[in-house]
Amino acid sequence: MSEYISSIKKWCEEILETYQASITELREHAGIQPLDDWKEQFTRFQEELSTNESLQESDVQERANELFAALQSFFNSEREEVSLESEDRVESVPIGGHTLPPLPYRYDALEPYIAEEIMRLHHDKHHRSYVEGLNKAEREMQRARQTNNFELIKHWEREAAFHGAGHYLHTIFWNIMSPRGGGQPTGSLLRAINQSFGSFDQFKKHFSEAAKNVEAVGWAILVWSPRSRRLEILQAEKHQNLSQWDVVPLLVLDVWEHAYYLQYKNEREKYVDNWWNVVNWREVDRRFQQARQLKWEPF
Ligand code: MN
Repeated sequence: MSEYISSIKKWCEEILETYQASITELREHAGIQPLDDWKEQFTRFQEELSTNESLQESDVQERANELFAALQSFFNSEREEVSLESEDRVESVPIGGHTLPPLPYRYDALEPYIAEEIMRLHHDKHHRSYVEGLNKAEREMQRARQTNNFELIKHWEREAAFHGAGHYLHTIFWNIMSPRGGGQPTGSLLRAINQSFGSFDQFKKHFSEAAKNVEAVGWAILVWSPRSRRLEILQAEKHQNLSQWDVVPLLVLDVWEHAYYLQYKNEREKYVDNWWNVVNWREVDRRFQQARQLKWEPF
């Protein structure tokens, strides 16, 4: 055996050794199978070097380079994923782990416009109950996934929307008020308001009318549409109507009858099951990558 081939053999051993540490580090994330596949490829290559005497040096070099490049890119991408995930772990709220954010000012800070007593009840009692309701709904939905029992899913989805929207909207609400508030915005926000609503006065009138005319209970909400690149004013009845304001839709499935009835008649289940065959995960991923750049403070 040539000196060159024995040096490559030695190199393989070194790589296996060096990567043993990485393998241990990445095992939890990547799973055992792909890592063992790599080890096997290298072991097989080594064996071939030992047993096949007709191997040309140039072939060996090419194979070794390819193997090494592929291994390296595999580990690099795994590493990147691990660090992204650990970043996400630190910054994300665990399932059922929402907390009541503290009021960013004293309870009496908004007087005389909003009384201290209202602020205490509103923040400490009402907002807290949304946090607790959301945590319960999330845990129940997790339990449904773990036990594969979705009998009450409709109920818990409603609860998640009601309490989730309640929690997120109140979290925004406390922060968009301040004892040093009032007046008008300036700069690009004012320009966007002028562009979207004609003038600040027209915006203020429209927003006030929307708020006064919410049927029963709810909210008036100024939103930014990343698609129309304009501001809009919307109403929410209760908090939600099954959505959670403050979230970004990634994957949506239309189950109106017009989406399937001609073909599936009343068999919505069949339509839903078949629909998975046409999901464009690349687009969902693209939306996810853009949406995750938006980072509200976690609570
Ligand atoms: Mn409220």
